[in-house]
Amino acid sequence: MLKGKVAVVTGSTSGIGLAMAKALAGQGCNIMLNGLGDAAAIEATRKALADETGVEVAFNGADMSKPDQIRGLIQETADRFGGLHILVNNAGIQYTSSIEEFPEDRWDAIIAINLSSAFHSTKAALPHMKKAGWGRVINTASVHGLVASIHKAAYVAAKHGIMGLTKVTALETAEDPITCNAICPGWVRTELVEKQIAARAGEAGLSVEDAARQLVEEKQPSKTFVTPEMLAQVAVFLCSDAASQMTGVSVPVDGGWTAQ
Ligand code: NAD
Repeated sequence: MLKGKVAVVTGSTSGIGLAMAKALAGQGCNIMLNGLGDAAAIEATRKALADETGVEVAFNGADMSKPDQIRGLIQETADRFGGLHILVNNAGIQYTSSIEEFPEDRWDAIIAINLSSAFHSTKAALPHMKKAGWGRVINTASVHGLVASIHKAAYVAAKHGIMGLTKVTALETAEDPITCNAICPGWVRTELVEKQIAARAGEAGLSVEDAARQLVEEKQPSKTFVTPEMLAQVAVFLCSDAASQMTGVSVPVDGGWTAQ
């Protein structure tokens, strides 16, 4: 479906971003991976994805808190593949604490990586999409772009912010063959959430599995974790022709969390 298209997926060395990169590659899309991690492990992931799908897969380790590196990521993608069609803004971090205890540097880092990075990448990518005459911007937001939870001030603020950015991007590209939408996952068991499960297990004296069950049951009515692969298929759908008139919307995939 996406043969010959080019996608950059930020934060795609693990979790949801990696699943999205794999699914887009499976549709024939050339991929620029991005993210942090061990260089040898990233190279093994890059090579395996290229071998399995037959598309071209490259890696750029831009730090998504650094605007100049973000611009470099977009430019390198366009130069390397001769264009850019799909931008998935997915890189993200978490820190949990009450507002009164929240470290200023964690606030700044979360706003930079989870929100401002998407502004810088979208700004740099739109001209390439307009030149190609087709584009998709997909923002991995969160249920926390729609509702709040305690102890996540920076994360909730950043994710609500990205909902606004999604709408403005959609309006400014409405007359172009470009769409911009947000996917809003509930709990997904990735590294970002394993840290929260481990903290809960430690505080409450629970096993990791009991803490995971408690965490998902507290907010997610289905009592079942969303998987990265489910979210990846939503991203693929948003890239389809069927979704060409879907723009500026948020798609919750949250086991009923935000229906409450
Ligand atoms: P993850 O920790 O597995 O993935 C995060 C990715 O972002 C990794 O590839 C990491 O290397 C990258 N990253 C972090 N800081 C970076 C930086 N400075 N520069 C470049 N890359 C950086 O976690 P995940 O759950 O897959 O998170 C992906 C996105 O999904 C995030 O935006 C997160 O907020 C969102 N999300 C996750 C959940 C969940 O339950 N896991 C729910 C809703 C939304």
